[in-house]
Amino acid sequence: LMKAKIKAELSEEKYKQLFDNTLDHIFILEVTSDKRFKVLEVNPIQAKESGMLIPGYYVEDCLDQETAGILIRNYRRCVEERTALIYEREFYGQIFLTHLLPVRDNNGTIYRIIGIAHNITKERALTEELVQKNETLIHLNADLLAAKKRAEESDQLKTAFLQNISHEIRTPINSIIGFSNLLNEPDISSEKRTGFIDIIQNSSHQLLTIISDILSIAFIETGQEKIIESEIDLNELMSQLYDRFLQTANTKQISLRYVPNKTVKEAIILSDRNKLIDVLSNLLGNAFKFTKDGYVTFGYLIKNKDIEFYVEDTGIGIAADMQEEIFKRFRQVEQSSSRAYGGAGLGLSISKSYIELLGGHIWLSSELGKGSSFYFTIPYKKAMPEAIPETMPFQLAQEQHPNEAKTILVAEDEDSNFLLIKELLSNTSFNILRAINGQEAIDVCKTTPSIDIVLMDIKMPVMDGYEATRQIKAFLPNLPIIAQTAYFLESDKNKAFESGCNDFVSKPFNKNIFLSKINTYLWSA
Ligand code: ADP
Repeated sequence: LMKAKIKAELSEEKYKQLFDNTLDHIFILEVTSDKRFKVLEVNPIQAKESGMLIPGYYVEDCLDQETAGILIRNYRRCVEERTALIYEREFYGQIFLTHLLPVRDNNGTIYRIIGIAHNITKERALTEELVQKNETLIHLNADLLAAKKRAEESDQLKTAFLQNISHEIRTPINSIIGFSNLLNEPDISSEKRTGFIDIIQNSSHQLLTIISDILSIAFIETGQEKIIESEIDLNELMSQLYDRFLQTANTKQISLRYVPNKTVKEAIILSDRNKLIDVLSNLLGNAFKFTKDGYVTFGYLIKNKDIEFYVEDTGIGIAADMQEEIFKRFRQVEQSSSRAYGGAGLGLSISKSYIELLGGHIWLSSELGKGSSFYFTIPYKKAMPEAIPETMPFQLAQEQHPNEAKTILVAEDEDSNFLLIKELLSNTSFNILRAINGQEAIDVCKTTPSIDIVLMDIKMPVMDGYEATRQIKAFLPNLPIIAQTAYFLESDKNKAFESGCNDFVSKPFNKNIFLSKINTYLWSA
């Protein structure tokens, strides 16, 4: 008996130690005969940390109604189902994982419930943190993989690009060098000579194209490409393109159709002439490049506030999955080294950048084997056409003053531009002087009092046309000075007038406008 007593006491002591020192909340409930739950005992940590269940009280008296309702439902389940229950719940900001253990008496009736609640708030927070970190890692990983893929793609593209470029540059250079050497051969027939010169010219042209493409890309990439608006006679521009591509069409035996826009008689618009020509030439060039037979059609339509241009061909077409790709830099449908078509894959990406700079967009529709149609829009900005006067007054004036030889000073650094001006004045009795920069223009004006008029280029080395005009006007205020430049924005025009210029003409000159302006200052005034 003593032994049994000691053993019982030791066992009791062991459980008491556990009950008192465990970190879990332990509570013992009595299941009363009326099926209510009365708190019999709680361990110290539950009393200290939670204090919700108070010995001697019914559960519903210890807690608010909602919490008590939830707990009592679980206790009832434990009694009715006669099994242990595990559930997880948040109570007053803490999350508990609770085990309910039913205790039976000798008759099998459940008369007690032992509850052990483990506070898992911290673990849960940690788990959530881990889940979140994991998600972040998954995203980061995906980003990294995408970046890696992009880097690899760009690397491949650059390699392909360099190979293409070096091929595209070397081929024409080899021809130029090879055929120029052949030109030196003494016994070469004149027929062959012409053929060689043709090849050299074509190769030079090809070389120029690729170099300007690379430069354009560099300009676009560094954000330096600017829009230079001027008046454009759209119908004239389209006819010029037609004339230019007619030769290609004839050589390739493909018909070229330009459908003039009959509804618009005078399509004088404001836009960037060079960029528009570049884009249309590129699309037309591609259309011919990728078409063996059939036709190439191009034209434009005015659609509300936009002008929509189109270039259609009956060529090889473009597969659906490449239709967006080809607008990317260096992208070509054929990337292999055995490419059948030349080109560096830059044209469309340059065109896209230009069109977007102009305020429009570019797209295409195409079917493999049937052909492609490229479309693009630019804003429809109508310009008032500059009245093109007849030259009559100028000729008349000259006839009326046959003995008045006039002296014109042309300040122009570019030889080709100077030659053009000389040509335009060739049938007149002008005495033509030239200065190749602003400073020289001032010096000539100082030493040559017979000058009647100055044609002043704006962009010149050493000193620009604005400054030269300012200085000349300081000592010759009545000498007419006409500014000339490749383009005139409104601000440039104002600047020209502010510096003292009497008028301006845009390059390339329209002969009649040019002569009529000179006439105004020499004889009409
Ligand atoms: P490039 O012509 O120098 O290769 P582009 O950027 O102008 O460069 O064109 C990119 C690619 O788009 C071409 O290599 C070709 O694969 C495809 N492409 C462009 N225009 C056409 C067209 N009219 N028909 C078929 N494929 C075309």
